[in-house]
Amino acid sequence: MTDSFDCDLLVVGMGPVGDALAALASVQGLSVIAIDKAPELFPLPRAAVFDHEIMRIFQMIGVADRIAPLCRVPDRYQFRTAGGDVLLDFIVAEVGPYGWAETYALHQPAVERVLRDRLGELGVDVRLGLSFESLVQDAAGVSVTLLGDDSRQTVRARYVVGCDGSWSPVREALGIRLDDYQFDEPWLVLDTIIENPGDLPIVCHQICDPRRPITHMAMSGKRFRWEFMLKPGETAEEMLKDSKIRELLKPWNCANRIEIERKAVYRFHGLVAEHWRHGRVLIAGDAAHQMPPFAGQGMCSGIRDAANIAWKLAAIVHGCASEHILDSYQEEREPHVRAIINTAIAMGKVVCMLDEQAAAARDREMLARKTAGAQDVSVSYPDLSGGIFSQTAGAGALFPQPVSAGGERLDTILGDDPVLIGRGLTGSNYDGMRLLDLDSSVLAPFAEAISDWLKDRGANSVLVRPDRHVFGTGDPRQLTGLWHDAITAKVAA
Ligand SMILES: Cc1cc2nc3c(=O)[nH]c(=O)nc-3n(C[C@H](O)[C@H](O)[C@H](O)COP(=O)(O)OP(=O)(O)OC[C@H]3O[C@@H](n4cnc5c(N)ncnc54)[C@H](O)[C@@H]3O)c2cc1C
Repeated sequence: MTDSFDCDLLVVGMGPVGDALAALASVQGLSVIAIDKAPELFPLPRAAVFDHEIMRIFQMIGVADRIAPLCRVPDRYQFRTAGGDVLLDFIVAEVGPYGWAETYALHQPAVERVLRDRLGELGVDVRLGLSFESLVQDAAGVSVTLLGDDSRQTVRARYVVGCDGSWSPVREALGIRLDDYQFDEPWLVLDTIIENPGDLPIVCHQICDPRRPITHMAMSGKRFRWEFMLKPGETAEEMLKDSKIRELLKPWNCANRIEIERKAVYRFHGLVAEHWRHGRVLIAGDAAHQMPPFAGQGMCSGIRDAANIAWKLAAIVHGCASEHILDSYQEEREPHVRAIINTAIAMGKVVCMLDEQAAAARDREMLARKTAGAQDVSVSYPDLSGGIFSQTAGAGALFPQPVSAGGERLDTILGDDPVLIGRGLTGSNYDGMRLLDLDSSVLAPFAEAISDWLKDRGANSVLVRPDRHVFGTGDPRQLTGLWHDAITAKVAA
């Protein structure tokens, strides 16, 4: 008896991560059903910023040019003392190595609206108002029961990814436990609209004031966010009172022109799921990991998960790879996420210091280090490792995206498949791999930048995965062979 599937991939949960995954998988040629229990897009913001890697993923989805005008590129992200001295100063490059500005301040619902619209254009079957209830998997696929207003339906999918947020019913159904970093700080988050910002600073900064640590973010357009740390003994209930909010905002001198869009108390914490895959079911985004927002990386990490998963599922469904490559998802992504959580918690520990003496010592030490030119907290995250990479120079790095003098970006030429870039790539024995010759006219605007990158790694060719990570560098035929082995058999590349 032949198995009949409703789709190759069922995406459960359509926050930014589910939307991105559904779009990427569809771009990769999979048939996708995406469901969410909410009948409408969540109208309120959470993420304040995202980075250039994510804009590059939006580019893969075909929406970067629509999203960029909705965002603001801040020139820096600062940590300041109560007195205004700068403890940490992260300067934002207008064009980073991946072809986009290093940071974008966003209004999350506006960006999600663009992603949702794109799902329609790509032909993703979007079903809203349906809750994940349970799943049963077998050797060939997964049967998922979904609950609507007054009825149940079953979807049969080859693969399922739970992008269903921090409480993840999919993760619960799989019985996956969370590893807790024991960082747990409650903050009041205020999202506001201010028609006339007046002298409000258009900046993203953390005010490391032990009397009350505060985050202040100028997001896109007229939107501003404040976050106020709760002090011991303070309750969410009292912090959410209008009178308390007025008191907290008083020093900012904007009470008479502010519209509060949303107020909520969040607990900022670090959690990582012990397993990210169980057979044909995977989890991604907040379902797999959560982190404090000080590095602005929670949503970014989830969207990176999506990019990591989409091409692998497509390669399997299209018969180009065996299922073992799904093991590489957690292998590659977890160390990266944990490195970011460590950075976010390190940043959080700088900010969330309520002891006045300890804060004064922190200020003295960090200002002295800064004067001496030391980098206090790194924001460069590690390359990927393990998984589907060869043991060659540059493997695991994100391949750069040079921008031509005319504003064209490399990825428009790379396409959606793995690609081998080098010189003199003619003839056969490349296992059907897509080839791009550095001397071809199509690569001419980028040839110098790519040649320099290869030279720094002592290589004459590079194999770039569909998620723009470098599989490896070296001899082109050898690389193709290693790639073939890595994706088709359970052998170390
Ligand atoms: C105050 C704050 C500031 C932040 N700042 C940043 C930042 O600057 N940068 C950044 O990158 N990240 C930031 N984050 C983190 C970011 O908001 C999250 O990581 C991101 O929204 C997670 O996206 P997700 O798609 O994984 O989950 P969610 O956005 O939570 O989406 C999950 C979806 O699953 C659906 N769902 C749940 N249960 C079911 C079910 N049973 N059936 C069907 N559907 C279901 C929900 O309706 C929802 O639509 C911040 C978070 C907070 C709280």
